[in-house]
Amino acid sequence: MKDVLSFAETFVFLRVLCGLLLCFFSSALLHATADNAWSVQWQPRELVNGSPVLFRVKAPPGVTALQGTWEERTFDFRFGRVCQCWFAIAGVDLGSKPGNQKLELKGSTKDNAALTHDDEVVVHEMDYPVSTVTLPPAYVQPPPEVQARVEEEQALKKKLFSEILPDALWSGPFRSPVATGVSGGFGAVRVVNGVKGSPHQGTDYHARLGTTVRASNSGKVLLARNLYFEGNCVMIDHGQGLVTIYMHLSKIRIKEGQAVAKGQPIGLSGNSGRSTGPHLHFGVRWQGLYVDGKTLLMIVPPEQERNVPPLREAKPKTKSAAGAALVKGK
Ligand SMILES: [Zn+2]
Repeated sequence: MKDVLSFAETFVFLRVLCGLLLCFFSSALLHATADNAWSVQWQPRELVNGSPVLFRVKAPPGVTALQGTWEERTFDFRFGRVCQCWFAIAGVDLGSKPGNQKLELKGSTKDNAALTHDDEVVVHEMDYPVSTVTLPPAYVQPPPEVQARVEEEQALKKKLFSEILPDALWSGPFRSPVATGVSGGFGAVRVVNGVKGSPHQGTDYHARLGTTVRASNSGKVLLARNLYFEGNCVMIDHGQGLVTIYMHLSKIRIKEGQAVAKGQPIGLSGNSGRSTGPHLHFGVRWQGLYVDGKTLLMIVPPEQERNVPPLREAKPKTKSAAGAALVKGK
């Protein structure tokens, strides 16, 4: 946060300096004054492609609703009483190129006046490792008899993802779905049966058959059923485009449409669907983008700051560190 703040302070200083230099032009001075009422911070400090991000915004007085545009997607902020700030979780596309990305903010007031502010956020390039996987051929190229099923399931997921609830249902930090270590990281470039496939869109956890899997945060069950690739799968809608996904379960212990609390058991881990052995695949999706679940667990939302000790931020490692959690690189 410190670097972000110091950057923001430098920015503010430069804007003030520009305003003073242009004091003969009242419009320029007014613009600088209005912009100074905004401040934007984000977590994690080092953003990479494939990372979730928590934006935290101080808006000018009088703003009663705040909307953001990021990665060509719009989203609503909610107001935190403890921090007296607006906050929301979004994501960086795994395919995003490194560089500055624009966050556009649009605040509205009681009188329907629109106050806008643009900010630049630096996105670094993550050097995701390569991992080799061997799978039964039927899970690489589904046989003709399951083709119709696969298509039906794709259509179902598309429909469900288009019906995400508009209001945020989560609160506080997201928790790990199991109390075990990671066996396969998010974003790894997968070579499946010798052929380069799509990147890994989740985090794999070690989980012996029958390990209790818990909801990472509160929400509503979007899907709880057996799918061809995902196996026994649970998806939880946390609102505002955010969904957590739990795959390859041996048992599902909740029903579609049901409200779930953070930490509530939702099923038992297993080896169903396209899986090489018992484990839990934990996926996080924000408005169609898959983002790193491990990073989501490190984010501390502002309304919890007084109750939760600050979590250590992942230190960027060098590119040579294979399987690094967060790597800053160019
Ligand atoms: Zn996986």
